[in-house]
Amino acid sequence: MEFPQADIDSLWQASAPPPPEPQRLAGSRQAEIAVIGGGYTGLSTAHALARQGVDVVVLEANRLGWGASGRNGGVVSGKFRISYARMARLWGLDVARRMHGIGVAAMENVADLLDEYDIDAQYRPSGSLRCAHRPEALSALREECVWLRDVLGDRSVSMLDATEMHDEIGAKGFCGGMLNLRGGVIHPLRFHRGLAAGLRADGVAIHDESPVTAIEHLRGGGLNLHLPQGQLRVQQAVLATNAYSSLTPAGDAIRRRVVPFRSAMIATGPLTGLSGATLLGNGRSYTETRRMMRWFRMSGGRLLYGGRGAFGQRDRASAFAALERALLRQFPQLEGQEITHRWSGLVAMTMDSLPHVGRLDDRLVYAMGYNGTGVAMASYMGRHVAATVLNQPDDAGLITGLGLRNVPFYPAREIGVRLVAGWYQALDALGK
Ligand SMILES: Cc1cc2nc3c(=O)[nH]c(=O)nc-3n(C[C@H](O)[C@H](O)[C@H](O)COP(=O)(O)OP(=O)(O)OC[C@H]3O[C@@H](n4cnc5c(N)ncnc54)[C@H](O)[C@@H]3O)c2cc1C
Repeated sequence: MEFPQADIDSLWQASAPPPPEPQRLAGSRQAEIAVIGGGYTGLSTAHALARQGVDVVVLEANRLGWGASGRNGGVVSGKFRISYARMARLWGLDVARRMHGIGVAAMENVADLLDEYDIDAQYRPSGSLRCAHRPEALSALREECVWLRDVLGDRSVSMLDATEMHDEIGAKGFCGGMLNLRGGVIHPLRFHRGLAAGLRADGVAIHDESPVTAIEHLRGGGLNLHLPQGQLRVQQAVLATNAYSSLTPAGDAIRRRVVPFRSAMIATGPLTGLSGATLLGNGRSYTETRRMMRWFRMSGGRLLYGGRGAFGQRDRASAFAALERALLRQFPQLEGQEITHRWSGLVAMTMDSLPHVGRLDDRLVYAMGYNGTGVAMASYMGRHVAATVLNQPDDAGLITGLGLRNVPFYPAREIGVRLVAGWYQALDALGK
C-alpha cells in the first residue's frame, strides 16, 4: 500500500485552515513509548503520557487527521452503544454508574482540551436529541429517560412531545424524542489539528506520513518499529489504529478484534431560500431511533446528514444516492439544494458494542472500538491507555475490565455486516 493515502474531500477539509507541512520520521531514533496512529486516541494517549514526563513519539501513516478523527460528524456525545440500564442488568448498578461517569467526563474533557490549547473548533455545547420514528421507539426512550433521572440522578435528560420535536427540527416525522443537554457539535478536523499543534508546542514529537510497517520484539526487551525511512526503538508501543488497523502488518495483532463498518456523510451547500420553520434551529446533534440510524446536524449554515455508507474499500455513488433520498424524505423542503460534499470513513464495531483498552503482551497496548462514537471518548481515552502502559492502578469500568477478543468468523465479516444491515433495513422499512 502506498502512503500517504489520498486526502478526503470532506466539508471539514474545505473549511479548516491548511494543514501543517508533514514531519516524517527519518533515520534511527529512540524513545520510551511509541503511539502508532495519530487520531484522537493516539493524541490523547500522547497527551496523558507527556503529562507524566514520559518521552513519547506519535507515528501516523498518513497526513494528520486522515483517519476517522478528521472526517467524522463532529457529534460530541458520551454515550455507549449499550444503554446504562442494560449495563446495570448485565454487570450491576455500580458498573453502570462508573460508565455513565466516564461518558460525562469524556464530554467535559472536550471543552477542557479546547481551553488548554486555545483551539477554535467551533464547539457548540448545544446537546443532542434522539428522535423517535414510531411510538414503540418513543416508549423505549421514555423508559430510558425515567431510569437515567431516577436511578442515576441525571437531570440533563428530558422528553419532548411531537409538537416540541417539530419546533426543534422544523420538519415532520418524529412522534417525540429525548433531549440530552450535555455534549454538542464540533468541527472535528479543527479539533484534531488544534490538539496536534498544542502537543507539538508542548514538545511532543508527532510524525505524519510515517507508517509503521512492522513491529519487532527485541530479545533483550523493547521493540524496534520499522518505517519506510527509518526505525524507532522503544520500550513499549500503543496500537491506536482503530478501524484502520489493516493498513499495514503492524496492525495484525489487533485488526481482527473489530469489524470495520463504513459510515458516510453528505453536506448541502449553505441553505438559502427556505420558507417556513427554521431547520435544526438549536444547532444540536440529532439521531434517529431507526436501527440503520441516520443522524444530522448543521454546520456553517449547511445541513450535514449521515448514515451507513457503501461496504468494502471504496465509496459508491449508489450509497450516497441512498443517503440523499433519505435526506429529502426527512426534509422535503431541501429539494433542489445542492449537495456539495460526499465522503465516508471506517468506524470500528466490537462484538460487545463497547470500546476497549488492554494489553497484548508486556510491550504492546491497544485502545479501540468506539462503535461510531469516538469524538469525546477517544479524546478522553488517553488517560486510561497511559495508566495501562505505566501499569498504574486504574478503573475504567468495562473499558479496561472486559478485554477484547477476536471477532469470530472474521473472514466472513463483510457478508455478516451486509446481512445484519439488510435485515435492519427491512425491519425499519416495515416499521418494526
Ligand atoms: C464518517 C464518520 C462519522 C463519524 N461521526 C462521529 C460523530 O459524529 N461522533 C462521534 O463521537 N464519533 C464519530 N465517528 C467515530 C469517530 O470518528 C472515531 O471513533 C474516532 O475518530 C476514533 O479515533 P481513533 O484515533 O481511535 O482512530 P482514527 O482517527 O481512525 O485514527 C487511526 C489512525 O491510525 C493510522 N494508522 C493505521 N495504521 C497505521 C500504521 N501502521 N502506522 C501509523 N499509523 C497508522 C491511520 O492512518 C489513522 O489516521 C465517526 C466516524 C466516521 C468514519
